[in-house]
Amino acid sequence: NRRWVLASRPHGAPVNDNFRFEEDHIATPGEGQVLLRTVYLSLDPYMRGRMSDTPSYTPPVKIGEVMCGATVSRVVSSLHPDFAEGDWVLAYSGWQDYSIASGDDVINLGKDPQHPSWYLGILGMPGFTAYMGLLDIGQPKAGETLVVAAATGPVGATVGQIGKIKGCRVVGVAGGKEKCRHAVEVLGFDLCLDHHAEDFAEQLATACPQGIDIYFENVGGKVFDAVLPLLNTLARIPLCGLVSRYNDTELPDGPDRIPLLMATLLKKRIRLQGFIVSQDYGHRINEFQQEMGKWVKQEIIHYREQLTVGLEQVPETFIGMLQGRNFGKVVVQVGP
Ligand code: NDP
Repeated sequence: NRRWVLASRPHGAPVNDNFRFEEDHIATPGEGQVLLRTVYLSLDPYMRGRMSDTPSYTPPVKIGEVMCGATVSRVVSSLHPDFAEGDWVLAYSGWQDYSIASGDDVINLGKDPQHPSWYLGILGMPGFTAYMGLLDIGQPKAGETLVVAAATGPVGATVGQIGKIKGCRVVGVAGGKEKCRHAVEVLGFDLCLDHHAEDFAEQLATACPQGIDIYFENVGGKVFDAVLPLLNTLARIPLCGLVSRYNDTELPDGPDRIPLLMATLLKKRIRLQGFIVSQDYGHRINEFQQEMGKWVKQEIIHYREQLTVGLEQVPETFIGMLQGRNFGKVVVQVGP
């Protein structure tokens, strides 16, 4: 069994040496367990958080432990009545070829799911995040202006497309021309701006002549700085992620702008709410699956995946994603 373990905790951006490649024997399942072969491994920004031991909503990966991650896997052998050899499952096997799981902890996707890897993206955790964050906290209404960054990633792309379904004017923010073109031409956003542009803040102001009613926060940093003065009275900010800051080791220099933020929230009566989809919305998964399943089937929502092949590639692919080198949902094909 080949696997990547956490070798050391990163200081700043993760590097290859933070991971160690190991091999050991394949374990055998006990009563109630299944042996799984990883086929698809999901790489997600939250994994950066699990590499650090600062307090968070879940404990970190321990040094020497297999790196965590959701997988779509196949059952190799089963000692659980609900699973048979060859079944596809949604599991949490991490960065490795094989794993043992309790049958109670994995979800059976059947013998022949149509797009198995999509359960890691549009039909899984990132899609669910976009759906709940936008609809429950964002409360979109027709005619409102919605801004979302990381616009071609699985969360941002879905947020913008649901925003269009709800009648919003959607302005995306992404890294580079090609991603911006995709957001407009394929995903149907009204506009998409490149955050690398020197005059990004001015471009955003011009793109939002009626101000911003919903800012779906995925990145923080200079995108949030540009958004803050444009927020309308009674704006909503689903605070989903802050990926531009995940590698920071200390607070940035500069004047203390918390008073400005607080005054803006107060005077404009803005709702800013953080959420963790698994902890806040588990009870609404059925509603999401039904609605999203319908949209995807009818091709109202488009989904782009970036598939990398080979377990060897995982650290490099993960490090690249945090820097925006991915284009679409990052999935690694680990096995056949
Ligand atoms: P993505 O696939 O979109 O990957 C992250 C993207 O962030 C990069 O591709 C890059 O896109 C963008 N980015 C990186 N650095 C910067 C920067 N300095 N400024 C602006 N953009 C940057 O990730 P996901 O769609 O999976 O996740 C999006 C966000 O949602 C993350 O913050 C993640 O942590 C969060 N999340 C939160 C959940 C929750 O329950 N709260 C659940 C799932 C995800 P580009 O090149 O376009 O800038």
